[in-house]
Amino acid sequence: MGVAIGIDLGTTNSAVSVVRPTGLPEVLKNKEGDPITPSVVLFQSFGGPDEPLVGEQAKRQAAAFPEDIVQYVKRFIGDPSWKFESSSGTSYTAEEVSAIILKRLKEDAELALGEEVTDAVITVPAYFDDARRTATRQAGQIAGLNVLRVLNEPTAAALSYGVEADANGTVLVYDLGGGTFDITILKIAGTEFEVVATDGDRNLGGFDFDNELMKHLNEELKKQGAPNAFEDPSLMAALREKAEFAKKALSTVPKTNVQFSAEGKHYRVALTREEFQEVTQSLLNRTEELVADVLDAAKMTWADIDKVLLVGGSTRMPAVRELVERISGKSPELNVNPDEAVTLGAAVQATLEGDVEVSTEQVGSKSTIEGYLGGPVTISDVTSQALGVILFKEDGVTEYNRVMIERNEKVPATAEINVKTAIDRMTAVHVKVTQGDDSDPEMVTIVGEGQLALPPYPKGSPLRVSYSYDVDQTVVVEVFDLTADKSLGTIEIERVANLGEGDLAEFEEKIGGMQIN
Ligand code: AMP
Repeated sequence: MGVAIGIDLGTTNSAVSVVRPTGLPEVLKNKEGDPITPSVVLFQSFGGPDEPLVGEQAKRQAAAFPEDIVQYVKRFIGDPSWKFESSSGTSYTAEEVSAIILKRLKEDAELALGEEVTDAVITVPAYFDDARRTATRQAGQIAGLNVLRVLNEPTAAALSYGVEADANGTVLVYDLGGGTFDITILKIAGTEFEVVATDGDRNLGGFDFDNELMKHLNEELKKQGAPNAFEDPSLMAALREKAEFAKKALSTVPKTNVQFSAEGKHYRVALTREEFQEVTQSLLNRTEELVADVLDAAKMTWADIDKVLLVGGSTRMPAVRELVERISGKSPELNVNPDEAVTLGAAVQATLEGDVEVSTEQVGSKSTIEGYLGGPVTISDVTSQALGVILFKEDGVTEYNRVMIERNEKVPATAEINVKTAIDRMTAVHVKVTQGDDSDPEMVTIVGEGQLALPPYPKGSPLRVSYSYDVDQTVVVEVFDLTADKSLGTIEIERVANLGEGDLAEFEEKIGGMQIN
């Protein structure tokens, strides 16, 4: 068996870590020598099959080849309607594009370690639903990785913080990345990490701050006679790059100039931090609302929170720190690197996964990390989405969603209902699994459906249907015969949004054989 790594597969950037023999995790540099790899893929071909370019080199060419570039694919993972067609006419799913990024990360880690990497823990936003978690796991599989676990990003951040600092107490993790926002409250007691509540918005991140700034800059540029950048893919990509650059600059300086060229003319827009904060205020307000919601869900107030961790590149914006200080009355922890906390925690988790044998001198073992921490580590997480099932009302025709496992319940979580067979010799049990709190079936997501064949029981035979979330928050349904007191089997949930076994095998071969640069 090879080495197990931790991967933060981010919307804008990704990073890989491994636990060293000291018991401490460390970020691995990529082949360009950088600790962070932009999650950007440029599809290029040289007359033959596609040879995707991943990372910084790809990102730099975004404006030159806007049609050949894929950015922010994490926003589409688990969405079966999303496809990308490369210039060579090859079509890719979001799982495949993510797999291309993961394959590059795996190969770079192998280069850094001088060993084969076989296993990985990949992090996901706490608020990801079943389809997105499953799709992330599948992307790992397509990339040739044995995915030990998909781990929630805030939990990973808290884990790395707990490893590096004396962190006992109740911790709130405010995680604003490139594309997602997560807010999580955890209790840390020695080597026990218990998530109390989590909430978030998977479409709120630095990307959205860039979008708002792009709109503002575009208006200012038009006033100076520049063409509308939103109508030209190349100009838009260039404007996105300028906007992100200006946003980052304004994290350290109070004003900056944005230079922009279009149709052979040069323009300049002066921009202050205040102006930037004004055009993005509504996004920050949204994070404030979600923080209030998660405190409510945890039945806590700020007085119960001992420490605040800021995670994700977007927490470098001074407005985030000011917001957190204003609402919490506390200064956020300073010894957390917002770009590295998640990947470091993923590496710790990869080492803790029991069945990983560590064959190398370079990598720490489970015993070293537990020794370092002073005991076995336990992590308990909660469900980020309510899990339900579609049932019929008493009229026998109207469907409704019955929540089986509430949001913020500890995982693994199980809930059961007893049912009776409706007719004589009923041949199968059919279940429709949902995610969401509402009782209206229209307002929840159908995760998938499944069927289990039944022996020819008489009408009214008692059955128990058990629904569970495993530690990765993927859904398992099992049916028991209460008369014979035995399990009739597990229902294979055909996930509507995910790839089937056939597609997976095909994509493994397609991506596995690809030259990725
Ligand atoms: P992550 O996914 O955690 O790597 O976050 C990346 C996001 O953080 C991107 O949207 C970046 O534009 C943003 N980001 C990185 N550094 C800064 C900075 N200094 N100021 C503002 N935003 C930043």
